[in-house]
Amino acid sequence: MTAGTRPRRVAVVGAGPAGLFAADALASQSDVDVDVVERLPTPYGLVRYGVAPDHPTIKSVVHTLQRVLDHERIRFIGGIEVGRDILRADLLECYDAVVYTTGAAIDRRLGIPGEDLPGSVSATEFVSWYNGHPDFERGLPLDAESVAVIGAGNVALDVGRILVRPREHLARTDVPASVLARWNENRTLDVHVIGRRGPEHAKFSSKELRELGLIAEVDRVVRPADLVGAHEPTADRRTRANLDLLREWSAGVPRPSARKVRFRFFRTPVEIIGRTRVEAVRLERLTVDGSGATAGTGEFETIPVQLVVRAVGYRSAALPGLPFDAAGGVIPHNGGRIVDGAGVPLPGEYVAGWAKRGATGVIGTNKSDARETVSALLDDLATTAAKRPAGQRIEDVLAAGPARWIDHEGWRRIDREELGRGAREGRARSKIPDWATLTDIALRATAERFPD
Ligand SMILES: Cc1cc2nc3c(=O)[nH]c(=O)nc-3n(C[C@H](O)[C@H](O)[C@H](O)COP(=O)(O)OP(=O)(O)OC[C@H]3O[C@@H](n4cnc5c(N)ncnc54)[C@H](O)[C@@H]3O)c2cc1C
Repeated sequence: MTAGTRPRRVAVVGAGPAGLFAADALASQSDVDVDVVERLPTPYGLVRYGVAPDHPTIKSVVHTLQRVLDHERIRFIGGIEVGRDILRADLLECYDAVVYTTGAAIDRRLGIPGEDLPGSVSATEFVSWYNGHPDFERGLPLDAESVAVIGAGNVALDVGRILVRPREHLARTDVPASVLARWNENRTLDVHVIGRRGPEHAKFSSKELRELGLIAEVDRVVRPADLVGAHEPTADRRTRANLDLLREWSAGVPRPSARKVRFRFFRTPVEIIGRTRVEAVRLERLTVDGSGATAGTGEFETIPVQLVVRAVGYRSAALPGLPFDAAGGVIPHNGGRIVDGAGVPLPGEYVAGWAKRGATGVIGTNKSDARETVSALLDDLATTAAKRPAGQRIEDVLAAGPARWIDHEGWRRIDREELGRGAREGRARSKIPDWATLTDIALRATAERFPD
């Protein structure tokens, strides 16, 4: 820092991978202090609340993300929702720049009759519950014997695989104790994974598909007819590997397992049927042309199911006062600089991660994405004068309102408690799924450190 200048302050909104990768890129510039503002008491976004609990290797990226939070120039401000507890105007007042990394947490809908019947849920509801997200503590009854999962991507596979996993497999993961208790009631026998287009168009990663075959207690059912004409000479490696696996399963000897995952391609749901709750789903058969476009055939079938989970994509939530591209479900930007309706950058406001590019890519994609945004931000900071000579402080704004924020030590206290519960239950971690306990544990820590 040159004499007479002061460190710049940047707020990052959202402590998911995009937010923490952005904070890391910013703090590695020696004259930037970063506050990461997160609505939940806990960091890591969908790494904690989306990635499947039986994928511990993927979840281990939290060790890298935790090191970001340990950085002396980075503060965690948890339990604070931008748009509710503090406003965009507060952020613009307190910081030289703001990076929005609020993700894409809203499921896309199917737009068909019956979608709001009890027993028709979004993948977010189901995934968030088994992952212990405090907004979804109540969870779902697991009394459906037959389940339709709509979608042919990895989230659909996650949902299907978790539903058929024996309880003892989940008991080795970090799911909340309340979720494990509910698994005793799990009656799932059949999961139908339903894709609009053919097997060669499915977005499954081969690793995830193969994993399904490794659960000895589960059979996979693929109709040979769905594979006829699935051409692969021009397909990429992933698609060829998927087709090989699906062919192997369709030709193989059925396993005598009670639980089955049944793949249904070229089908789209047109209605969810039921009087007071889901009783069946009606599907139309589709054809797909060379360009991948689908057309209805007018042939229908009805499958009895008691639960429908839609896993057909995500979009971001609009934030009060910020531009929003409703069609794309993202915050409009140019190289990470948020732009208004005329494409003009808003000074000091940036976006990264799923809120910027939509729900695509793997966790690591958010790193290069965040770097692009931070690079634009730092270029702009280098050419603008510091705008807050005295500087309004975010802690003063928060102190004037009712919300209490959870700092880094508060989160570490939650972390230690979860590890302790896990040790007592014979596993690495047992997640705490409710707001009251999370905030109690975290805020007790803060009170202990600042007695008054
Ligand atoms: C079910 C599921 C499974 C997945 N599995 C994998 C996998 O196995 N491997 C893989 O590579 N990728 C996986 N992904 C993708 C990966 O999780 C995403 O790429 C990544 O989490 C996106 O990062 P993000 O930071 O943009 O958003 P998020 O991770 O969603 O983080 C956004 C954060 O912003 C916070 N926030 C939102 N609004 C506000 C607000 N107004 N104020 C303050 N904070 C706010 C949220 O609470 C959240 O913590 C999965 C995604 C899902 C949905």
